[in-house]
Amino acid sequence: QAKNEGKNSYRLVGIQTHEMAGDRLAWQTRLRRALEQGEILPYYQGIFDTEYGTLAGLEVLARWQSPTDGLIMPGQFIPLAEESGLIKRLGEQILRQACTQGAAWLAEGLEVGLLSINVSAHQLHDKGFLETVERVLEQTGFPAERLDLELSEAIWVEGRESVIDSLTRLRAMGIRVSIDDFGTKYASLAYLRHLPVDRIKIDKSFMDDIPGSDITSAIVSAIMTMATSIGLEVVAEGIENQSQLDFMNGAGCRLIQGYLYGRPQAAEAVPALSRRADFRGNSRFGVVDHER
Ligand code: C2E
Ligand code: MG
Ligand code: MG
Ligand code: MG
Repeated sequence: QAKNEGKNSYRLVGIQTHEMAGDRLAWQTRLRRALEQGEILPYYQGIFDTEYGTLAGLEVLARWQSPTDGLIMPGQFIPLAEESGLIKRLGEQILRQACTQGAAWLAEGLEVGLLSINVSAHQLHDKGFLETVERVLEQTGFPAERLDLELSEAIWVEGRESVIDSLTRLRAMGIRVSIDDFGTKYASLAYLRHLPVDRIKIDKSFMDDIPGSDITSAIVSAIMTMATSIGLEVVAEGIENQSQLDFMNGAGCRLIQGYLYGRPQAAEAVPALSRRADFRGNSRFGVVDHER
């Protein structure tokens, strides 16, 4: 099922963009029903510490498992969920499923690191959001310290004061905050210094230009240096090949996510991933230990 993800999504792209444009309301109804039927599921993609060779965490990525259309990718339904207001319910369902799963893994003694959940600006700006997160953590028993919320740079567009207030309160609960797709929109590093944020994820579009473009390489190196100096963790997302990995490791980035190490997969695939624990980067960080 996980292996077919790419294929299915490509097959669906043409059909869906067309159908959605023609009949948004029908799609909203379908999505609402899918949420009721439990067809929206979390998939998990590893974030690896390439210095220690361990699984540092999992990004939780929503998938719509439709009985009629197969696996539908978030690009096809997250925007729809956002504009129809269904994102609130979708976000809570994903959070609840992931935290339930995460608590079960912990109970089995499985080390999966942090769970990183994507949160839309709509969700963060919703008055009930903090209470929802608090309630889900309480009900599932998943530790707040292991939860990381990924927010896109777009959250700064609306009311900075209220965003800062929400993030401060989340962090006071022990939850970590990451800025997703960093470098694509508004947030500057100078500004981040004053924000309640733990981590940035450098957007995949930068990786696409590495190692080819000198300018991109220089920008990424500068981001690394500055982020590290103000105490922010950095994750490189969208690492697909060894030269991108070598470049990021060389720039001092050890947290790596991308197809090179693995695609998002259903929960059943995670235990094997966690036990493998041999995810080293280049020789600077040591040799891959195949025996573990
Ligand atoms: P994102 O948060 O930036 O997630 C990373 C995306 O890059 C994922 O796409 C992932 O599958 C993909 N990716 C990871 N490594 C590679 C790589 O090496 N190469 C390439 N080409 N792609 C890679 P996905 O799963 O299609 O999700 C797309 C976006 O949908 C996410 O971007 C996120 O913004 C949003 N999303 C997904 N799940 C949720 C959710 O539960 N809630 C909300 N609000 N948004 C979600
Ligand atoms: Mg993300
Ligand atoms: Mg991202
Ligand atoms: Mg991205």
